[in-house]
Amino acid sequence: MESPAPYSLTPEQESRLIDDEFADLLRGYLASNHRKKVDLIERAFKFAREAHYGVRRRSGEPYILHPIAVAKIVSREIGLGSTSICAALLHDVVEDTEYTVEDIERHFGKKIAEIVSGLTKISGGIFGDRASAQAENFRKLLLTMSEDIRVVLIKMADRLHNMRTLGSMAPNKQYKIAGETLYIYAPLAHRLGLFGIKTELEDLSFKYEHPAEYARIASLIKGTEEKREMVYNNFATPIHERLAEMGLTYDAKARVKSVYSIWRKMETKHVPFEEVYDLYAMRIIFDTPEGVNEKEMCYRIYSALTDLYTPHPERTRDWVAVPKANGYQALHVTLMGPDGNWIEVQIRSRRMDEIAEKGFAAHWKYKIGGEYEEESELTVWLRTIKDILDDPNPNAIDFLDTLKLNLFASEIVVFTPKGELLTLPAGATVLDVAYSLHSELGNHCIAGKVNHKLVQLSHKLNSGDQVEVLTSHSQKPKAEWMEFLSTAKAKTRLRKELRREQQPFIEKGRQIFDAFLTENNINLNNDVITKILGRYQVSTREELFLKLGTGEASIDDYLNVNTSSRAKSLVSRLFRLGFGKSDNSKKKRKTENESDTATPAEIDVKKTYVLHDDGTDRNFILAECCSPLPGDDVMGYLNYDGQVEIHSLSCPHAQKLKAGHGDRLLAVKWDKIDRDFIANIHVEGIDRHGILQELTGVISGSLDIDMRRLNIEAHGEVFSCDLDVKVTDVKHVRRLCAAMRKVDGVRRVVRVK
Ligand code: MN
Repeated sequence: MESPAPYSLTPEQESRLIDDEFADLLRGYLASNHRKKVDLIERAFKFAREAHYGVRRRSGEPYILHPIAVAKIVSREIGLGSTSICAALLHDVVEDTEYTVEDIERHFGKKIAEIVSGLTKISGGIFGDRASAQAENFRKLLLTMSEDIRVVLIKMADRLHNMRTLGSMAPNKQYKIAGETLYIYAPLAHRLGLFGIKTELEDLSFKYEHPAEYARIASLIKGTEEKREMVYNNFATPIHERLAEMGLTYDAKARVKSVYSIWRKMETKHVPFEEVYDLYAMRIIFDTPEGVNEKEMCYRIYSALTDLYTPHPERTRDWVAVPKANGYQALHVTLMGPDGNWIEVQIRSRRMDEIAEKGFAAHWKYKIGGEYEEESELTVWLRTIKDILDDPNPNAIDFLDTLKLNLFASEIVVFTPKGELLTLPAGATVLDVAYSLHSELGNHCIAGKVNHKLVQLSHKLNSGDQVEVLTSHSQKPKAEWMEFLSTAKAKTRLRKELRREQQPFIEKGRQIFDAFLTENNINLNNDVITKILGRYQVSTREELFLKLGTGEASIDDYLNVNTSSRAKSLVSRLFRLGFGKSDNSKKKRKTENESDTATPAEIDVKKTYVLHDDGTDRNFILAECCSPLPGDDVMGYLNYDGQVEIHSLSCPHAQKLKAGHGDRLLAVKWDKIDRDFIANIHVEGIDRHGILQELTGVISGSLDIDMRRLNIEAHGEVFSCDLDVKVTDVKHVRRLCAAMRKVDGVRRVVRVK
């Protein structure tokens, strides 16, 4: 590792060096096609030079050389304009000197001051000493980022320059900085489309983290240079001839993989250096001829190349028709060269190349007036981050994990039924797609169709899948969905919805609890509360209230185990108050099957009552306790609203009615029923690959039954599955159960009442 060169310049030499460096910055700027605001840049330079006067970097050189270098990266390697160049020149002024953001605003206006302020906020290393502090800092970084993306771009340039000059830092600092660069900045650079910077950051980090490996691979690359050149020339010559015949102006470059990416490949694929197959690569950058579509030109070149060489069947990547989320466009093809080596060729137009090298900044340049593109994929990503930040309650560590997930996961692209494209992280499920489209779609998502096949919510998608989201009004968001969701956005949306849904139950539970305390004059101290929470196996009061509110637990659950007579008398009082078992307090709700019920004026209980339903009108309601289906053995009960309630004969509630309300019972008979009903079916079996597909195939495929809910649980080898299906009558259910029993591995299929 190089150590800082001894620094020995006279003040005059130093001053000249600074002037030269600045002049070089300006030269680059003037060669770009930005509007020329040289005055402003010169003022920013003078201001920064004066502010940092007398301060030196660890290497001994004047501090101002660092902001100049950062401004140069911002201008030349990222392609940004005067606002960013000024902000880069001033980026350490507020942090390191007496000047304030207000001073910057007075001299350079609001925009530049805002960016400098953003940079000052995130000036510390992202990695503090504690993990949660890291996450908080990272959150700050991204918060600022969503205000103005230039803050992050300049931060990238700052980090790149610090990495380039890392040699002068103490070794322990080198590890820390190299580590966080690899962990945070390189993936972020990738996401922003700054491929050149990403590669360099990776290489530099690698160099400081694994100096010996770095040196070894670098020398191997150098050692194979001659051979590589020969292979390349043999390969390229016929291509040049062909492209010349086509009358194309273009640049072609031989490309060598970066040290870091070669090492990664050696590590992940466990291959020696010699076997890293795509060490060779060629890049063709063409000028789009007048009147030709650049996309079409890519395909024409592709066609010419595949006339010359055989393409690898699985290594053609069309990022032209389907650009990457960060805007990258190119056509990649891997060809078998004359020496039997696979060589990757990247075909790009001049515009695509600039985007690839400089990222989104270049992309903006091509937009008229240099305006940000409103709905770019990047904006969508930034909005996702905002979604997360808007959520008031995520644990800081969770937040970092969610983001890490998004930064590192490779991406997949799927199609909506309308042919729109969605970019998602690998591992995304049907439910992720639903949530990415709309919160409501996610909340009511019941299944999906992937390439026209019915799949469950947790089905993991592959790139190129066509995905349709199926919803149902009766579907509700479930906490267990959290386990298979993979996008941060979906998790955020689900978490929000769950919290919203739980709130009334928590409130209800709190009332139950408070009423109980008041009623019995109980004063709780903390010890008792801890005990109560422990008994209910919850960790917070909110969780307890939720359990009480949903009826999952009741107060007598707790008191029943306390055998004191006082407790027992409390229990009995609770029952009288109606706070006891949840069943008692459960109100009858109308289901969609029970709506539109006609109330007959007079019903003769001595006659057999004929049940009919023509699809709009029906003369009965189905009891919720046993939800009978047409064809079931049932009885009627004339309730006090004058409606005929239908109960299954085996329903426990019906037993009670028989005993206590004999005068209101009716014999009933099913007539023509023209309506669908929901039946609940429980399936158990031995889990094997593909069994669920087969089951859903039987249901929706061969029997053409509409599935409304599907809930699957697997415990080791065994799975159980509850599903709601739309059926016409009992026979329909029996046919379905019989068909499912025939599926290999299914052990039990029962209709649940
Ligand atoms: Mn800096």
